[in-house]
Amino acid sequence: MDFFPVFMRLEQRDCLVVGGGKVAARKVALLVRAGARVQVVAPELCDELYALLEQQKITHLRRPFEDSDIQGKVLVIAGTDREDVNRRVSELAQAASLPVNVVDQPALCSFIMPSIIDRSPVQVAVSSGGTSPVLARLLRARLESYVPSAYGRLATLVESFRERVKQRFSSTDQRRQFWENILQGEVAEALFAGRDDTARDLLEKSLQGADDDPHPVGEVYLIGAGPGDPDLLTFRALRLMQMADVVVYDRLVAPPILDLARRDADQIYVGKERDNHALSQENINQLLVRLAKEGKRVVRLKGGDPFIFGRGGEEIATLMENGVTFQVVPGITAASGCATYSGIPLTHRDYAQSVVFVTGHLQDGSVDLNWKALAHSNQTIVFYMGLHGVGVMSEQLVKHGLPASTPVALVQQGTTQNQRVVVSDLEHLAETVQQEQIRPPTIIIVGKVVELHEKLQWFHPRPGADPRPFGGTPHR
Ligand code: SAH
Repeated sequence: MDFFPVFMRLEQRDCLVVGGGKVAARKVALLVRAGARVQVVAPELCDELYALLEQQKITHLRRPFEDSDIQGKVLVIAGTDREDVNRRVSELAQAASLPVNVVDQPALCSFIMPSIIDRSPVQVAVSSGGTSPVLARLLRARLESYVPSAYGRLATLVESFRERVKQRFSSTDQRRQFWENILQGEVAEALFAGRDDTARDLLEKSLQGADDDPHPVGEVYLIGAGPGDPDLLTFRALRLMQMADVVVYDRLVAPPILDLARRDADQIYVGKERDNHALSQENINQLLVRLAKEGKRVVRLKGGDPFIFGRGGEEIATLMENGVTFQVVPGITAASGCATYSGIPLTHRDYAQSVVFVTGHLQDGSVDLNWKALAHSNQTIVFYMGLHGVGVMSEQLVKHGLPASTPVALVQQGTTQNQRVVVSDLEHLAETVQQEQIRPPTIIIVGKVVELHEKLQWFHPRPGADPRPFGGTPHR
């Protein structure tokens, strides 16, 4: 161990920062956050430091560093662009046994500063021992996704119960077990979901033993998994997926996303291909209720966003009726993901001032869409589940006033390594779908913005890179 990690109390303590540029400013900002009294010595201040001075968060000596500046300080940082000054500060501080850091010069430091994940009072500090600050920063970014932003509130809640828990349980083992259950269970989840009062009540109940019920209470997490690229998951989605006892998923969830669920979670496929429902919606709703009542943490994974053509509303309505606690996590919907990964902005100052998402799941030619409202020249239309109805779709849009030459993009398996973008127009749409053998899942984008695809496409998938395509059968 090259460096000994500690957390230092700096509130109301005098600290010295030598240097007035942006490098120094970053350190000053951190010290100020820790409540230190910061004195900055520098002939000039950058804008950020000047702002702090104006807010009276720091004091300033407008001149070069002098040896006596370190007197009375508990910590010293040098971040000037003058090598000799930095070295001098370091030598003096070390001679006075003061902790000193010289930015980006580990050899001149008696302490180094970590990358921080700040969920005060919880903090995670990452250090590469001065070898590579960039590496530490990248590692921090990874950890960031595992530490929910509400961890600070969780710690504060825990602290307020700590004494009482100590009194209630005499052995440390019992206490540890109690806290482990709290911190990984429904109390923590309630808090992460913003239900702070519920979290407090539940904690109170567990402490009073009202919770000695042998049946643990399950929960359902209705999670939008996005259109396919696992990188498009949200932090919350990933965290909840890693807590799952059971994952209930359907056709539109890409295999690499399923891989991210907890390894030993049971996986239940509930299909939902058109005309071939593996499980009816009603049965899915009941399945979720039953699993939760068995005490399981159920992750209900859905492609895209659960509230956009995802029947998420029906699923949570059933959960509510049955008194099952749940969370809903939004996801990137197919329209947004596929358009972005095809270089097609859904709105554009010159081409489209509005965008509508509609389902193209048309019942055998009987059309209940408001075509008149859809067929606007300055509007982008995105059809979900539209492959079956392309004939009716183009016919109606042209009939209601869109030029037959209006461009149309078909985006198949968008955002994945198997993404295909085929551009056609309303006149030739049905023909293109046939000829190009377009398969589900495919989203259909209609409007002038499609012209931008040629110029703005930036995502270049590597077909075959993921040998496990998803999303349906060839006949659709
Ligand atoms: N809740 C989902 C939509 C479910 S409806 C969401 O918010 O995205 C299913 C339709 O979504 C498919 O028929 C297809 O039109 C579209 N879709 C979903 N994922 C897609 C993908 N990766 N590429 C293209 N279209 C997709």
